[in-house]
Amino acid sequence: MKILVAVKRVVDYNVKVRVKADQTGVELANVKMSMNPFDEIAVEEAVRLKEAGKATEIVVVSIGPAAAQETIRTALAMGADRGILVQTDAETQPLAVAKTLKALVEKEQPQLVVLGKQAIDDDSNQTGQMLAALLGWAQGTFASKVVPADGTVAVTREVDGGLETVSLKLPAIVTTDLRLNEPRYASLPNIMKAKKKPIETVDPAALGVDFSPRVKTLKVVEPPKRKGGVKVASVQELVAKLRDEARVI
Ligand code: AMP
Repeated sequence: MKILVAVKRVVDYNVKVRVKADQTGVELANVKMSMNPFDEIAVEEAVRLKEAGKATEIVVVSIGPAAAQETIRTALAMGADRGILVQTDAETQPLAVAKTLKALVEKEQPQLVVLGKQAIDDDSNQTGQMLAALLGWAQGTFASKVVPADGTVAVTREVDGGLETVSLKLPAIVTTDLRLNEPRYASLPNIMKAKKKPIETVDPAALGVDFSPRVKTLKVVEPPKRKGGVKVASVQELVAKLRDEARVI
Protein backbone atom coordinates (compact mmCIF):
# COMPACT_ATOMS: atom_id res chain seq x y z
CA MET A 1 0.00 0.00 0.00
CA LYS A 2 1.37 3.37 -1.02
CA ILE A 3 0.57 6.31 1.28
CA LEU A 4 0.56 9.99 0.35
CA VAL A 5 0.88 12.44 3.26
CA ALA A 6 0.19 16.18 2.97
CA VAL A 7 2.37 18.41 5.16
CA LYS A 8 1.99 22.16 5.52
CA ARG A 9 4.61 24.67 6.67
CA VAL A 10 2.98 26.86 9.31
CA VAL A 11 3.96 29.23 12.13
CA ASP A 12 5.45 27.06 14.88
CA TYR A 13 2.86 26.19 17.54
CA ASN A 14 5.07 27.65 20.30
CA VAL A 15 5.19 31.08 18.69
CA LYS A 16 2.89 33.72 20.12
CA VAL A 17 1.34 35.05 16.93
CA ARG A 18 1.07 38.81 16.51
CA VAL A 19 -1.56 40.46 14.36
CA LYS A 20 -0.20 42.93 11.78
CA ALA A 21 -0.84 46.58 12.60
CA ASP A 22 -3.15 46.95 9.55
CA GLN A 23 -5.20 43.86 10.65
CA THR A 24 -4.72 42.11 7.27
CA GLY A 25 -3.17 38.99 8.81
CA VAL A 26 -0.50 37.79 11.22
CA GLU A 27 3.16 38.78 11.31
CA LEU A 28 5.27 36.20 9.42
CA ALA A 29 8.57 38.08 9.15
CA ASN A 30 11.33 36.43 11.24
CA VAL A 31 8.87 33.98 12.78
CA LYS A 32 9.84 30.34 13.38
CA MET A 33 8.00 28.02 10.97
CA SER A 34 7.51 24.26 11.42
CA MET A 35 5.43 21.36 10.19
CA ASN A 36 1.74 21.65 11.11
CA PRO A 37 1.41 19.49 14.29
CA PHE A 38 -1.48 17.40 12.88
CA ASP A 39 0.68 16.66 9.82
CA GLU A 40 3.48 15.37 12.06
CA ILE A 41 0.89 12.95 13.42
CA ALA A 42 -0.03 12.02 9.82
CA VAL A 43 3.62 11.32 8.94
CA GLU A 44 4.10 9.31 12.16
CA GLU A 45 1.06 7.16 11.39
CA ALA A 46 2.27 6.46 7.86
CA VAL A 47 5.73 5.53 9.17
CA ARG A 48 4.19 3.21 11.79
CA LEU A 49 2.10 1.51 9.08
CA LYS A 50 5.26 1.02 7.02
CA GLU A 51 7.15 -0.35 10.03
CA ALA A 52 4.25 -2.77 10.64
CA GLY A 53 4.60 -4.02 7.06
CA LYS A 54 1.23 -2.53 6.02
CA ALA A 55 2.63 0.22 3.76
CA THR A 56 5.26 -0.03 1.07
CA GLU A 57 6.08 3.59 0.25
CA ILE A 58 5.40 6.99 1.84
CA VAL A 59 5.35 10.08 -0.36
CA VAL A 60 5.07 13.47 1.35
CA VAL A 61 3.68 16.50 -0.43
CA SER A 62 3.86 20.15 0.51
CA ILE A 63 2.41 23.06 -1.39
CA GLY A 64 4.12 26.33 -0.59
CA PRO A 65 7.31 28.37 -0.90
CA ALA A 66 10.82 26.99 -1.52
CA ALA A 67 11.35 26.93 2.27
CA ALA A 68 8.68 24.20 2.55
CA GLN A 69 11.53 21.87 1.43
CA GLU A 70 12.59 21.95 5.13
CA THR A 71 9.17 20.67 6.16
CA ILE A 72 9.46 17.85 3.64
CA ARG A 73 12.99 17.05 4.90
CA THR A 74 11.62 16.76 8.44
CA ALA A 75 9.07 14.21 7.21
CA LEU A 76 11.82 12.33 5.34
CA ALA A 77 13.92 12.28 8.53
CA MET A 78 10.93 10.79 10.39
CA GLY A 79 10.84 7.94 7.85
CA ALA A 80 9.00 8.99 4.69
CA ASP A 81 10.62 7.83 1.45
CA ARG A 82 10.43 10.79 -0.93
CA GLY A 83 8.93 14.22 -1.27
CA ILE A 84 7.12 16.42 -3.74
CA LEU A 85 7.18 20.21 -3.37
CA VAL A 86 4.55 22.05 -5.39
CA GLN A 87 6.29 25.38 -5.27
CA THR A 88 4.28 28.57 -5.06
CA ASP A 89 4.49 31.85 -3.18
CA ALA A 90 0.72 32.28 -3.53
CA GLU A 91 -1.56 31.89 -0.50
CA THR A 92 -2.54 28.20 -0.39
CA GLN A 93 -6.27 28.05 0.22
CA PRO A 94 -7.92 24.66 0.90
CA LEU A 95 -9.68 24.30 -2.49
CA ALA A 96 -6.49 24.93 -4.49
CA VAL A 97 -4.56 22.56 -2.17
CA ALA A 98 -7.24 19.86 -2.57
CA LYS A 99 -7.15 20.24 -6.38
CA THR A 100 -3.34 20.04 -6.36
CA LEU A 101 -3.43 16.92 -4.19
CA LYS A 102 -6.05 15.40 -6.51
CA ALA A 103 -3.72 15.90 -9.50
CA LEU A 104 -0.87 14.25 -7.57
CA VAL A 105 -3.10 11.39 -6.39
CA GLU A 106 -4.01 10.68 -10.02
CA LYS A 107 -0.31 10.53 -10.90
CA GLU A 108 0.95 8.65 -7.83
CA GLN A 109 -2.05 6.32 -7.32
CA PRO A 110 -1.77 5.93 -3.50
CA GLN A 111 -4.22 3.70 -1.66
CA LEU A 112 -4.35 6.00 1.33
CA VAL A 113 -3.96 9.77 1.68
CA VAL A 114 -3.34 11.06 5.20
CA LEU A 115 -3.76 14.73 6.09
CA GLY A 116 -4.01 16.69 9.30
CA LYS A 117 -7.53 17.48 10.47
CA GLN A 118 -6.63 21.16 10.26
CA ALA A 119 -3.75 23.50 9.64
CA ILE A 120 -3.12 25.55 12.78
CA ASP A 121 -2.55 28.76 10.80
CA ASP A 122 -5.92 29.11 9.05
CA ASP A 123 -7.86 26.49 11.10
CA SER A 124 -9.86 25.74 7.94
CA ASN A 125 -10.51 22.01 8.49
CA GLN A 126 -11.53 21.68 4.83
CA THR A 127 -8.75 20.20 2.71
CA GLY A 128 -9.20 16.49 3.47
CA GLN A 129 -12.96 16.71 3.04
CA MET A 130 -12.64 18.60 -0.25
CA LEU A 131 -10.08 16.12 -1.55
CA ALA A 132 -12.36 13.18 -0.73
CA ALA A 133 -15.23 14.88 -2.56
CA LEU A 134 -13.11 15.76 -5.61
CA LEU A 135 -11.83 12.18 -5.87
CA GLY A 136 -15.15 10.54 -4.95
CA TRP A 137 -13.30 8.59 -2.22
CA ALA A 138 -14.35 7.54 1.28
CA GLN A 139 -13.10 9.67 4.16
CA GLY A 140 -12.43 9.07 7.84
CA THR A 141 -11.89 12.40 9.56
CA PHE A 142 -10.55 13.18 13.09
CA ALA A 143 -8.93 9.73 13.33
CA SER A 144 -7.67 8.47 16.69
CA LYS A 145 -6.99 4.93 15.38
CA VAL A 146 -6.28 3.61 11.87
CA VAL A 147 -6.26 -0.12 11.13
CA PRO A 148 -5.91 -1.24 7.51
CA ALA A 149 -7.22 -4.66 6.50
CA ASP A 150 -7.75 -6.30 3.14
CA GLY A 151 -9.09 -3.59 0.81
CA THR A 152 -10.47 -1.55 3.72
CA VAL A 153 -9.29 0.62 6.57
CA ALA A 154 -11.04 0.87 9.96
CA VAL A 155 -10.90 4.41 11.32
CA THR A 156 -11.90 5.30 14.87
CA ARG A 157 -13.12 8.90 14.88
CA GLU A 158 -13.20 11.38 17.73
CA VAL A 159 -16.78 12.63 17.74
CA ASP A 160 -18.62 14.74 20.30
CA GLY A 161 -18.99 12.71 23.47
CA GLY A 162 -17.36 9.51 22.25
CA LEU A 163 -15.72 7.47 19.54
CA GLU A 164 -17.13 6.19 16.26
CA THR A 165 -15.48 3.43 14.25
CA VAL A 166 -16.09 3.31 10.50
CA SER A 167 -14.81 0.97 7.81
CA LEU A 168 -13.69 2.70 4.61
CA LYS A 169 -13.26 1.05 1.26
CA LEU A 170 -9.77 1.77 -0.09
CA PRO A 171 -8.57 4.00 -1.65
CA ALA A 172 -9.50 6.46 1.07
CA ILE A 173 -8.71 9.72 2.84
CA VAL A 174 -7.88 9.91 6.55
CA THR A 175 -7.43 13.09 8.58
CA THR A 176 -5.61 12.89 11.90
CA ASP A 177 -6.68 14.00 15.35
CA LEU A 178 -4.42 14.72 18.32
CA ARG A 179 -4.70 11.35 20.06
CA LEU A 180 -3.80 9.17 17.05
CA ASN A 181 -0.14 8.92 18.09
CA GLU A 182 2.84 10.80 19.50
CA PRO A 183 5.16 11.78 16.67
CA ARG A 184 8.82 10.76 17.04
CA TYR A 185 11.76 13.13 17.00
CA ALA A 186 14.01 12.45 14.05
CA SER A 187 17.39 11.04 15.14
CA LEU A 188 20.59 12.62 13.88
CA PRO A 189 21.49 9.62 11.65
CA ASN A 190 18.00 9.78 10.14
CA ILE A 191 18.33 13.54 9.55
CA MET A 192 21.60 12.82 7.70
CA LYS A 193 19.97 10.00 5.71
CA ALA A 194 17.05 12.26 4.80
CA LYS A 195 19.40 14.64 3.02
CA LYS A 196 19.90 11.96 0.36
CA LYS A 197 16.21 11.19 -0.14
CA PRO A 198 14.72 12.69 -3.32
CA ILE A 199 12.45 15.77 -3.40
CA GLU A 200 10.83 16.56 -6.73
CA THR A 201 9.83 20.18 -7.34
CA VAL A 202 6.66 20.66 -9.39
CA ASP A 203 5.34 23.86 -10.96
CA PRO A 204 1.64 24.28 -10.03
CA ALA A 205 0.97 25.42 -13.62
CA ALA A 206 2.01 21.93 -14.79
CA LEU A 207 -0.87 20.54 -12.69
CA GLY A 208 -3.32 23.07 -14.13
CA VAL A 209 -4.45 24.34 -10.72
CA ASP A 210 -5.71 27.91 -10.34
CA PHE A 211 -4.37 29.33 -7.08
CA SER A 212 -6.26 32.61 -7.29
CA PRO A 213 -7.92 33.13 -3.89
CA ARG A 214 -11.62 32.27 -3.52
CA VAL A 215 -11.78 33.66 0.00
CA LYS A 216 -10.61 37.13 1.00
CA THR A 217 -9.60 37.86 4.59
CA LEU A 218 -11.37 41.04 5.62
CA LYS A 219 -9.92 41.50 9.07
CA VAL A 220 -7.84 39.73 11.70
CA VAL A 221 -7.98 40.86 15.33
CA GLU A 222 -6.32 39.75 18.58
CA PRO A 223 -8.52 37.99 21.13
CA PRO A 224 -9.67 40.34 23.92
CA LYS A 225 -7.05 40.79 26.64
CA ARG A 226 -7.70 38.86 29.86
CA LYS A 227 -8.67 41.10 32.72
CA GLY A 228 -6.47 40.91 35.82
CA GLY A 229 -7.54 38.59 38.63
CA VAL A 230 -8.52 39.54 42.18
CA LYS A 231 -7.78 37.84 45.49
CA VAL A 232 -10.73 37.13 47.74
CA ALA A 233 -10.50 36.86 51.51
CA SER A 234 -13.01 34.07 52.06
CA VAL A 235 -15.18 31.44 50.41
CA GLN A 236 -18.22 33.60 51.25
CA GLU A 237 -16.76 36.53 49.33
CA LEU A 238 -15.92 34.23 46.37
CA VAL A 239 -19.48 32.87 46.27
CA ALA A 240 -20.90 36.41 46.51
CA LYS A 241 -18.72 37.61 43.63
CA LEU A 242 -19.61 34.59 41.46
CA ARG A 243 -23.31 35.19 42.17
CA ASP A 244 -23.56 38.99 42.07
CA GLU A 245 -20.73 40.11 39.75
CA ALA A 246 -19.94 37.22 37.39
CA ARG A 247 -23.54 35.94 37.63
CA VAL A 248 -22.41 32.35 36.95
CA ILE A 249 -24.09 30.68 39.89
P1 AMP B 1 -6.88 22.95 6.40
O1 AMP B 1 -8.03 22.45 5.61
O2 AMP B 1 -6.22 24.19 5.79
O3 AMP B 1 -7.18 23.17 7.86
O4 AMP B 1 -5.73 21.83 6.33
C1 AMP B 1 -5.98 20.47 6.62
C2 AMP B 1 -4.81 19.62 6.18
O5 AMP B 1 -4.62 19.74 4.76
C3 AMP B 1 -3.44 19.99 6.76
O6 AMP B 1 -3.27 19.43 8.05
C4 AMP B 1 -2.49 19.37 5.73
O7 AMP B 1 -2.39 17.97 5.90
C5 AMP B 1 -3.24 19.64 4.42
N1 AMP B 1 -2.79 20.92 3.82
C6 AMP B 1 -3.41 22.12 3.89
N2 AMP B 1 -2.68 23.05 3.23
C7 AMP B 1 -1.57 22.42 2.76
C8 AMP B 1 -0.43 22.82 2.00
N3 AMP B 1 -0.26 24.10 1.60
N4 AMP B 1 0.51 21.88 1.69
C9 AMP B 1 0.35 20.60 2.09
N5 AMP B 1 -0.70 20.17 2.80
C10 AMP B 1 -1.65 21.05 3.13
